[in-house]
Amino acid sequence: MTVDLTVPDVHLHIGGETRTSGSGGVHHHVYPATGEIQGLVPLAGPDDVDAAVRAADAAYPAWRAWRPSERARVLRRLGELMERDADEIARLSVLDNGMTAGMSQPLVGIMAHWTAYYAGWADKVEGRVTSFPANQRELAYSMPEPYGVVGIILTWNGPVVSVGMKLIPALAAGNTVVMKPSELTPYATEHVMRLVREAGIPDGVVNLVLGGPETGDALVRHPLVQKVSFTGGPSTARKILATCAEFLKPAVLELGGKSANIVFPDADLDMAVAVNAFSVLGTLAGQGCAIPSRMLVHSDIYDAVVERVVAMVDGMRCGDPFDPATVISPVVTRQAQDRILAMIERAQADGAKLLAGGRAPSHLPDGFFVEPTVLGDVDPASELGQVEVFGPVLSLIRFESEEQAIEIANSTEYGLASYVYTKDIDRIQRLVTALHAGGVYINGASPVVGCELAFGGVGISGYGREGGEEGLFEFLRTKAVGIA
Ligand code: NAD
Repeated sequence: MTVDLTVPDVHLHIGGETRTSGSGGVHHHVYPATGEIQGLVPLAGPDDVDAAVRAADAAYPAWRAWRPSERARVLRRLGELMERDADEIARLSVLDNGMTAGMSQPLVGIMAHWTAYYAGWADKVEGRVTSFPANQRELAYSMPEPYGVVGIILTWNGPVVSVGMKLIPALAAGNTVVMKPSELTPYATEHVMRLVREAGIPDGVVNLVLGGPETGDALVRHPLVQKVSFTGGPSTARKILATCAEFLKPAVLELGGKSANIVFPDADLDMAVAVNAFSVLGTLAGQGCAIPSRMLVHSDIYDAVVERVVAMVDGMRCGDPFDPATVISPVVTRQAQDRILAMIERAQADGAKLLAGGRAPSHLPDGFFVEPTVLGDVDPASELGQVEVFGPVLSLIRFESEEQAIEIANSTEYGLASYVYTKDIDRIQRLVTALHAGGVYINGASPVVGCELAFGGVGISGYGREGGEEGLFEFLRTKAVGIA
């Protein structure tokens, strides 16, 4: 198998210019599968961020004045270009963070799908005429308006998906954007920026600055940034909100999760196990926000589930992300690998039973791999029962009754997604209401691909929504108009 491992030069994209260096220095990008440095990433300092925000601000009046149908046309074109270049964007996504090629292909498809969906919304934004006026001559109506410059901060696990979820609705609504991907994942978004230009989106409408926390902070606190859309962890979200509070600036926060999958005895066990184990272990090596990392299993079927999970994990290979036989990709950095392995150790000290994995695979010492790991009899109140791992670790937790399952599922501070496997429709209806989560997904339904349906969290999983009409309206605010 010959794989093209070349990476593109990456740039800061400011007002239509591509800059090869930034005042924030340089990041040495490491390929997680080999631990080798594969490229240099220019980091934006506060002056680069300022230039990018000013370029977005200068481009805003003209972009807002575009006919909505014209905005729809260029965004549709952008979606077509994403499909045309899907193989290359998928290859770059693997080189970004080491995800498997089998995973990167569908993720690029999701980005293109969201882009087509929100292109369709661009000319369908409507306000409302109200019954407020006191006489027939008066008129009162609401008018949704874009914010102006929006700051978008992405995490490293799925930048292309976030392009579809954040950048495209922001543009469809008529905003201009400064986007900051993580410095750990610069390649796929570099290619997207080329397509933005090719699609005919004017210079300055989309700007991109690369960098870490300092770059993100400079973007959030810039006075011309009117709204922030953030994906990342809750502790970073708290810092961002503290900065937003200084300026009374609104933010949308898509944060982490500790999602429960509740499996009842009447479930299709083969499907429940296959979907749950693959989602937690095989999806980006467990580095997904909405994965069902806690599998809550009724005691009557606990042993049968353990047997199936262990058999399935046995066939999951860690290895070269470009090899179609690889299921488990590396995690993003050496620090992440060390953190995950330490959590697995502590979980065992807390009483969890190691059923599979638990180590770094010895045949892959240079990459940042963790064996697919299953821990049984996890105490729901322990660290592993409560804290997001963000690695290929599945926890099995026993329950005896529906009430107990709900109590355990709702016992963390998170609330992104909940999953249920049962054939009992009455039970499904009770659980949909009782579960404390932004979404409830039944019998194998998945939150990931549904651009038509709002996605987001409750609790420390954040607030605001991506997807559907709700996701578009995060990038619009309503002006009230009264005419006497
Ligand atoms: P992180 O919070 O460390 O970083 C996210 C982004 O914020 C990065 O671009 C980073 O450079 C930037 N940043 C860091 N400090 C900042 C600051 N003070 N001001 C402004 N920007 C700052 O998160 P991570 O480790 O990159 O990602 C993992 C987390 O993201 C997990 O908790 C995961 O569940 C969550 N996540 C959530 C979703 C979702 O849609 N709900 C999707 C993917 C990941």
